[in-house]
Amino acid sequence: MTATYADFSASFAVPSARLEGFIAAHQFERPTLVIDLDRVETQYRALATGLGPAAIHYAVKANPAPEIIDRLIALGSHFDAASRGEIELCLGLGAHPDTISFGNTVKRVSDIAFAHRAGITLFAADASEEIEKIAAHAPGAEVYIRLLVEASGADWPLTRKFGTTRDTALRLMAQARDLGLRPAGLSFHVGSQTRDPAMWGATLDQVAAVWQAAEEAGFALDLLNIGGGFPAFYGEAIPHPTAYAGAVMAQVAQRFPEGIRIMAEPGRGMVAEAGMIAAEVLLVARKSEDDLHRWVYLDIGKFSGLAETMDEAIRYQFVTPHDGEATGPCILAGPSCDSADVLYEKRPVALPMALKSGDRVLIRNCGAYTSSYSSVGFNGFPPLDVVVI
Ligand SMILES: *Cc1c(COP(=O)(O)O)cnc(C)c1O
Repeated sequence: MTATYADFSASFAVPSARLEGFIAAHQFERPTLVIDLDRVETQYRALATGLGPAAIHYAVKANPAPEIIDRLIALGSHFDAASRGEIELCLGLGAHPDTISFGNTVKRVSDIAFAHRAGITLFAADASEEIEKIAAHAPGAEVYIRLLVEASGADWPLTRKFGTTRDTALRLMAQARDLGLRPAGLSFHVGSQTRDPAMWGATLDQVAAVWQAAEEAGFALDLLNIGGGFPAFYGEAIPHPTAYAGAVMAQVAQRFPEGIRIMAEPGRGMVAEAGMIAAEVLLVARKSEDDLHRWVYLDIGKFSGLAETMDEAIRYQFVTPHDGEATGPCILAGPSCDSADVLYEKRPVALPMALKSGDRVLIRNCGAYTSSYSSVGFNGFPPLDVVVI
């Protein structure tokens, strides 16, 4: 199966014939995410080509399916883990500890100690207490400081909660050095689903300014972690992953010294397009006879895999058995008894007028942040099932 992408001006679709074929040939008792492992490999290779010398640390949280981790290990990927659980997952499947970074800036002390015992030597931090914890429980480790960066225009921004300012970053590096750690470099996250590589420019400017200030303060930095943000196709045109990653790396090369170690942490861009959810319509209703909108209730909602519809930030594409027929606006909602479980209401979704209870609905390109976001069983609805092909 080959993906086709186009430039920014074109409209296009990413074919997922293998996933659709598999789903068409199977019955599912509950909402099921089907993952095409070969497509993960295609994405990995496309990103790796564009990223050139940068090491790929797959952000495990995007989709921790063991089969995905296993395939990525075979391809030579490294991993960004956020917890003991993610570290154990990667190690258990044979990842070498040298290839795992502990990238969460908020770590449990016992998890730091575990990672250190397991041989992991690279940790993220953005606060003084965290530097103390790492120095005490992973003595001698390498640390990179995560920077707070301005919002880039990402569809799913990751600002405010993580990162620190320039002056604090410099203080943390000095503290790390004084406590016997090695302050190796800087990290940031441009924001998830950053559709245009040009959106990276202003963020990279900010990070490069801190890098330079650190060098002037006498720190010999050699590690730049450019985080994630690599987009997936949800209906609005994006560049091919190789072109996108290449455009990001060109901007990095303009701002940072040659020969430094660069890491990238794609999550969404690695797995989103490798997944398709098979869901079902449970009910189509109108609140009154003259209601222009239909309410369409699916068997999957915010608490069973579609959490990224929060604020209607990520807009998934739906495939129905009636595509091509007349459509009308629908408010799309999940099955649970929580009124927050509405997926799209501010911007209703156009779905076929013929849609009815029992119809199968496919959700495209949802291999990232769905199974990992699914609750264990809110309201008795089972977590999103995952099938890997
Ligand atoms: C979630 C996360 C990523 C992955 O981000 P994507 O936008 O999905 O590529 C990368 N790095 C860190 C530190 C993260 O928390």
